[in-house]
Amino acid sequence: MPMDADEIRRRLEFYQDLGIKDIYKREGGTDAFVCQPAPPVPTVSALGSNPSKPASAGESACPALPPLAPDNDTLFQILTDIGDCRRCRLHEGRNKIVFGVGNEHAPLVFVGEGPGADEDEQGIPFVGRAGQLLTQMIEGTAKKEGIPLQRADVYICNVVKCRPPGNRTPEPDEMEICGQFLYRQLSAIHPKAICALGGTAARAVTGHKEGVTKMRGRWFQWKDIPVMVTYHPSYLLRPYNQDAKKEAWEDLKKVLHFVYD
Ligand code: URA
Repeated sequence: MPMDADEIRRRLEFYQDLGIKDIYKREGGTDAFVCQPAPPVPTVSALGSNPSKPASAGESACPALPPLAPDNDTLFQILTDIGDCRRCRLHEGRNKIVFGVGNEHAPLVFVGEGPGADEDEQGIPFVGRAGQLLTQMIEGTAKKEGIPLQRADVYICNVVKCRPPGNRTPEPDEMEICGQFLYRQLSAIHPKAICALGGTAARAVTGHKEGVTKMRGRWFQWKDIPVMVTYHPSYLLRPYNQDAKKEAWEDLKKVLHFVYD
């Protein structure tokens, strides 16, 4: 499938971000700029297998493109590469980039949707009301289950790093662009499990398109890493969703026992 102009632009921008300056067009080929089997860029999950493995002999005369997650990648390097990001429109209204917080070697990573007002102000994910509930859920459930665990022991980040205006759901192109960095964060940490908070994170990480009520409590996969889906803490704050709280606690129990038993 040939890429359209938008896809080519985004791909080139992404490679530029990785420091790649030269891309060669295959002679006489129909696929523009394809030196490797072209990975679809849209979701983090679509990048589940490393699409940039070196082509086998005869597959292509083009130089191999580097992996989307460079070898020996670190959170610090990813943060450096994000820089003063202006890759999508979300930068226009942001105060601070909200990269992620917690243990770089965490066996468990929580992925939310995107920063809210408090997070945008402080540059730290999940520090507002939803964040306080998430902290309670993590630490409270762990304590009840006899698992010595603090929020600082896990890693917490979002699909997009800048606050969407009015806390709207991030647009597909915003998730696609920022998803490259989430991909690198997850690859660098390589946790034992990922917990996707809410439908947007669940769909971005797993690639499944069902609603969160269908996905919650079930295991999915990101590369070789199991992914548990549960409700977003903001959803649980609404008074009419109190039944969902019990379910979220059950989901969390499952993931905590899987990781820490
Ligand atoms: N909601 C999210 O999805 N992420 C945050 O960091 C805060 C609220």
